Amino acid sequence: MRVFKFGGASVKNADAIKNIGNIIASSDMPLVVVVSALGKTTNALEAVVNARYDKKDDPLLLLKGIFDDHLSLITELGLDDKELNDCLKDSYDEVIEYLSENDTGEDYDRDYDQVVSSGEIWSSRIVASWLINEGLRCKWVDIRKVLITDTRYRDANILWSETEARVNFVFRAMEADFYLTQGFIGGTAEGMSTTLGREGSDYTAAVIANMLNASEAHVWKDVPGILNADPKWLEDALVMKNLTYREAVEMAFSGAKVIHPKTIKPLHNKNIPLVVRSFMDTGDIGTIIIGDEHENEDLPVFIRKQDQILISILSRDFSFAIGDNISRILSLFYEYGIKANMVQASAVSVAVCADDDGRGIRRLIEELENDYSVIYNTGVEMLTIRQYTPEAIKKVCGGREILVEQKTRRTVQMVVKA
Ligand code: ASP
Ligand code: MG
Repeated sequence: MRVFKFGGASVKNADAIKNIGNIIASSDMPLVVVVSALGKTTNALEAVVNARYDKKDDPLLLLKGIFDDHLSLITELGLDDKELNDCLKDSYDEVIEYLSENDTGEDYDRDYDQVVSSGEIWSSRIVASWLINEGLRCKWVDIRKVLITDTRYRDANILWSETEARVNFVFRAMEADFYLTQGFIGGTAEGMSTTLGREGSDYTAAVIANMLNASEAHVWKDVPGILNADPKWLEDALVMKNLTYREAVEMAFSGAKVIHPKTIKPLHNKNIPLVVRSFMDTGDIGTIIIGDEHENEDLPVFIRKQDQILISILSRDFSFAIGDNISRILSLFYEYGIKANMVQASAVSVAVCADDDGRGIRRLIEELENDYSVIYNTGVEMLTIRQYTPEAIKKVCGGREILVEQKTRRTVQMVVKA
């Protein structure tokens, strides 16, 4: 069994869907295919939820616009499929009903998951219908009934043994040549929708691969593999033909956007190779992640994390940062769902570089201010260079003001003004 994952870019329009149809049609079975929402749909659905809270735009109007785009895609693909139309309509009505019944706006994260998860349901159902229309024996699975999570909305944790039993029951039933399902979303035992964190579809694919003891997992992307830098940032970026699990997880955690950082562990635990490859150039195998050694050990790898905030937290009474204070501070970050990307402690202060999500971070800062003096810089970015050299550092931060720096033998991380 193999698991394929296709992200938003690979299903962004009719031509893209036809392309992945060709890839699947020419692949060996059995297969579980995991897909994301179409193109930038997740961002658009986030805007629906925000509109409800900010009360600037009409959320229902925004939602209808997104839904209509899906209907247009169905027309463009020439699909005439009652089951498809009914499934989308039911899912759309469910969201509207949820929004009208829960209009107090008391739980942003829960509302978010009920709205945003529909992107994956709609896209995957359309893709399945296209594949069936092409004569493939494909079965569509609603993953919310299989991948069972807790109620930590927007960052849900998978309930492992329950999910493992269901995954094996559903995907081994051999009711079709292959299965098509959604990444990024899950469901609670009570039937609420949940999400696993932005860009979480890779993680879904890895979890399913782990539970099915798959022979390989393939993530199909619009880049030729994993490069040593984002080519939109550094034009001379190179594809790395192979990587270790360790290097891959470090890169992903530092902000390399090619794969979600949570993807590696489930694959590593079962020693399942991860292939990251292009859906545009299918003859090229891309990057293979496996094992403990790789060829490009000395090549500097450049990672940029944008939209960061640097927060300095000082104890008011001069109590030492290390010990109670630091664990308390970091658990508050966790509680507010804010990812701390870099932490540096001195005697009486802690500096944390974190994703600036706007909403949650302000609430966290307010909470911290109850007990500490807090100062922060917004509009900063975090640069990580693995296997750094003096030239590599100069290449990306020559002349820029470095606010915090951390160096180990192989890696340097710097917080700089954007
Ligand atoms: N559609 C979701 C997102 O854009 C999940 C994913 O693409 O992996 O975050
Ligand atoms: Mg996406």
